[in-house]
Amino acid sequence: MKQKLFDELVEEAASCTRCPAMCGRSAVLSKLNGSPKARIMLIGEAPGRKGADRTRVPFSGDQSGANLDRFLQSINLQREQIFITSAALCNPRTESGANRKPTQKELSNCTYFLRRTIELIDPTVIVTLGSVALEALKRIQYHELNLKDSAAQIHTWQERTLVPIYHPSPQVLASHRRDAQQLLDYQVVAQAIKCS
Ligand code: SF4
Repeated sequence: MKQKLFDELVEEAASCTRCPAMCGRSAVLSKLNGSPKARIMLIGEAPGRKGADRTRVPFSGDQSGANLDRFLQSINLQREQIFITSAALCNPRTESGANRKPTQKELSNCTYFLRRTIELIDPTVIVTLGSVALEALKRIQYHELNLKDSAAQIHTWQERTLVPIYHPSPQVLASHRRDAQQLLDYQVVAQAIKCS
């Protein structure tokens, strides 16, 4: 039943045209996001041009994906154990073709899919990667967390364990949350998984 509902949601996302600027791109939501039975969900910002928009696998094919794999390996967490999605399911680009942040309207449009995905997968632990993902949860159920004050701490949201951490992009590692600190943050993720 869960698989059938997930397949229906994948079909619905594939044909979604809510965001005019995403015309010509398609939602990264499929069995490649992970098992619907996963107890741990990671939520990113949006698929990257060179990453998931190309490979269709969240956080793969670019440096953010390579960094995430390295952080997951540091706590011995396998991709098979997690489901990965994002606040916006399609890749937002500037007119010149570069990645850009999803607009508030696009995030609002995609809240439906994030809410349905969380309901369906029903994870015990949610890990948000970056401020956009953390903010996106507010649209589903309000919380007062912000990344600066709440990162790498164990919180409760919707009766689930929530750990906000920083995005694994090279830009974030270079300027906001260094590699060594992110490795420590993942130790908190490991602790949250162990305790839930
Ligand atoms: S980002 Fe989400 S809401 Fe917007 S077109 Fe893609 S699937 Fe639809």
